[in-house]
Amino acid sequence: MMHRVLEVSGPMRTFKISDISIPKASLHGKLVTGCLILLGLSLFLACILLSTIGADYRRAKLSYENLKFYQSVIAAANAVSAERGPTNTLLGGNFLSSSDAWARLQTFRNASDEKLETVIQISKPITQITSTPILNSKSELQKARNAVDKELAIDFNSRTLPSIQEPIDRMFRAVDAIMPLINATALNSNGPQGDFVDEALIGQKLFEIREYAGRIGSILTPYIAMQKSISNSDQAKIEQIRGRITQLWELTKPYLLRYPSLLDKVNDVELKFFGEGINLINTLQSQGITGRFLFSTQTMTDAIVPTFLPLEVIRVSYLNLMATQSSNNLASASAYLFAIVFLVCIVISINIILMIWTQRVIFVPLLLAKEAIIALSEDREIDDKRNDHTGREINDVFRAISILQGRLIERRNLTQELKMHALTDGLTGLLNRRAFDELGNGHVFFSHVGLNVGLIVIDIDNFKSINDSLGHPTGDIVLRSLADTLRAHVRSSDLIIRHGGEEFAIVMSEVSLEQLKASADKLRAAVETSKISISDGNEISITASFGVSIGERLGAKWLEVINQADKALYLAKHAGRNCVRSIQ
Ligand code: GH3
Ligand code: MG
Ligand code: MG
Repeated sequence: MMHRVLEVSGPMRTFKISDISIPKASLHGKLVTGCLILLGLSLFLACILLSTIGADYRRAKLSYENLKFYQSVIAAANAVSAERGPTNTLLGGNFLSSSDAWARLQTFRNASDEKLETVIQISKPITQITSTPILNSKSELQKARNAVDKELAIDFNSRTLPSIQEPIDRMFRAVDAIMPLINATALNSNGPQGDFVDEALIGQKLFEIREYAGRIGSILTPYIAMQKSISNSDQAKIEQIRGRITQLWELTKPYLLRYPSLLDKVNDVELKFFGEGINLINTLQSQGITGRFLFSTQTMTDAIVPTFLPLEVIRVSYLNLMATQSSNNLASASAYLFAIVFLVCIVISINIILMIWTQRVIFVPLLLAKEAIIALSEDREIDDKRNDHTGREINDVFRAISILQGRLIERRNLTQELKMHALTDGLTGLLNRRAFDELGNGHVFFSHVGLNVGLIVIDIDNFKSINDSLGHPTGDIVLRSLADTLRAHVRSSDLIIRHGGEEFAIVMSEVSLEQLKASADKLRAAVETSKISISDGNEISITASFGVSIGERLGAKWLEVINQADKALYLAKHAGRNCVRSIQ
């Protein structure tokens, strides 16, 4: 806080308001600083919120995209696996190229190609996932198909067990080639924090159950085709795969049962696959001991493939559930992000609006009010730019300023009037003795009068005898008449003063002594020649004596001017009156 002296000049007096404590910074500055700090804090908070929520959003988005990608990889692997069904059928007999079995194979091959292509297309924007396994799988699949086609080109009777096993093994390799991609996608590509890793692994296990089941069929295919007994090693392999399938199912089932919508589908798997499908495998295994199968590859495929279907259905449903969950996560993350952006915009807008509003509604009018009050205190005109303000309080302030202004004007006029009154002679209306003294004191009232002046003092000759002979009231008439005569013969800028009973003075600015004498003589002649009407229609004439001097009208110099004019008047009286004299 600092102290300063505020000087206020009024029309009547000058006074000081001292020791007023005023704050260093203006209110406006404080408000703007406050608003800017608030704005900065809002932006800082917004940045923190947006970066956290933005990261959540990005994670949800990545999760969703990866899950979709994962679904497409599983679907492709499943299609390659499923292609073995119609392949096995054809390997087990002679089929006309126009037969349904060939058409089915073509349909399945097209489906595999399409699904693999989809994976390649989706993987393109996801840079961290390489499509190499897919390309490997494609090339393995192509080799397998070539081997299949080569075998199918041979008459069935010329086929042997190993010649049928070879293309089937190649078909396995096509699926094996895609497995690294399934593993990689499941383990590390479902979002940075591993959202849906467990779910992806469950999906993978369901795929594996379907794949292993299919492999049992494929292992059996050459034996059924050749009606040969199953080798001990393949019997052991089938046992091993069956054990694995059961183990995988026991692992995945509890996860699937968490979702009520999957309950029916779990039952379907147990009924169809673990019931009918496994029973069929048992039957085929026991028939395979003798090598007398009651199935052809076609009847076997037609019987076993539908039992795999519930496995595919439950896998697709389960992964779809995950995809929906992921998509919901993404939707809520984007809604949250949008809400935060919206809120941040609102907070910042309110801040800015508040700043502009207070500026317009409070500070600009306050500044105007301040200017107006200072102008009033300095007796200046108020710059009337005040419009109607929205705030009642501000309007009240301006109303009060207006009233104050009216009162000040009233006071100024009154003061002016009083001052005039104090300086005016009651009988003649001329300036009085007091004005004569104030002139020498440099009063502001006479600021229009120059510093160098000429003074004429006038004394009516033998006035006492007029009073004595005609009475005092007639004496007053004579005094008023002389005042009129003087008024009629001087310029408006000259001052006419009655400074004694029948003594008058005239002050003229910037005149030479000669000009002054001439003016005095003109006045003398005018007084002498003018007729004064007194009572009863009578007229009289008077004369007056004049003393003149020039000099500065301030302080001691003014007294000297008066003194010299008085002396000159004295000379005029002694010279016989009705004349002008000067001693300069
Ligand atoms: P002189 O020529 O020497 O000036 O003679 P005089 O008679 O004028 O002498 P003096 O100055 O002594 O007389 C002034 C007279 O003026 C005295 C007084 O009665 C009269 N007087 C002063 N004031 C007034 C006034 O207000 N009204 C009237 N009627 N007479 C006044
Ligand atoms: Mg006198
Ligand atoms: Mg006289």
